[in-house]
Amino acid sequence: MKKLSLIIALLFLYQQCFCWGFYAHKKINYYAVFLLPPQMLVLYKQHIDFLTAHAVDPDKRRYVVAVEGARHYIDIDHYGKYPFTSLPRRWSDAVAKFSTDTLQKHGIVPWWVQNMLHRLTDAFAEKNQARILKMSAEIGHYIADAHVPLHANSNHNGQYTNQQGIHGFWESRVPELLAEKDWDFFIGKAEYIKDPGKFIWQRVLESAAAADTVLRYEKELSKQFSPDQKFSFEDRNGVIVRQYSTSFTKTYDAKLKGMVERRMRMAIFAVASFWYTAWVNAGEPDLSALSNKEFSSEELKEFETLNEAWKIAGNKEHE
Ligand SMILES: [Zn+2]
Repeated sequence: MKKLSLIIALLFLYQQCFCWGFYAHKKINYYAVFLLPPQMLVLYKQHIDFLTAHAVDPDKRRYVVAVEGARHYIDIDHYGKYPFTSLPRRWSDAVAKFSTDTLQKHGIVPWWVQNMLHRLTDAFAEKNQARILKMSAEIGHYIADAHVPLHANSNHNGQYTNQQGIHGFWESRVPELLAEKDWDFFIGKAEYIKDPGKFIWQRVLESAAAADTVLRYEKELSKQFSPDQKFSFEDRNGVIVRQYSTSFTKTYDAKLKGMVERRMRMAIFAVASFWYTAWVNAGEPDLSALSNKEFSSEELKEFETLNEAWKIAGNKEHE
């Protein structure tokens, strides 16, 4: 019985979120703020807690809205081999060739990021503060997901190669163990993105190209570590969980030569640059003079619904 609950706890940890763990998503939005020009810092610095906390709303929404899931990934290997030229990069061309159903089935993250950029740009044009903050927090999430190799590969949790757990290992365990002490997230300045579609597709293609290494290295290292060395038991918020051991995690990170940190840094730069691009495209509105400063009761209700759904889903997986 005890063993069963341990295993369930492990599954919960790594199934809770097939996206940069909550930890990394929050860090990415947080650090992105510091890349912004002074005219944007006026708003973003003041609301950095909101941008950080709501970086994970899109993951919570997966428990409420069925179509949400597809926005976080693309199983691009479904469309052939790198660089996947059979898949049109424009949404309308891709729909014409493959149908909306097929695209939704295999994930739509590169298109969804562009959709969110339009929404954020509109929010700036309307000078709607609540909407700017909400859209900024959420686009940050999708951009970050596009930087994760296993978000661009159908073997997203190593389920086809007996590597279950690798998803959370790469994007949660590695950063949670190493980011605070060893990684550097001060990255210069946000830049204007002339062609956002091209930019995000480039990042997705890099992710897709790296997925093979992410999987292969874990497999190779697993042959060098006994199960006892590979996993350890640790207390996590009062629950004993089995997780990848510190030494296995550090060895994996070293073998990847800083890939996780590099992708996280690139995600931070991309998030800040998309925020900046939306603001410029909206005509650089004065962010110290915005309207709609309070969230509407509807928006507040949505935040609550997302949290409730998240808690219930978590408890169900614990049972
Ligand atoms: Zn996600």
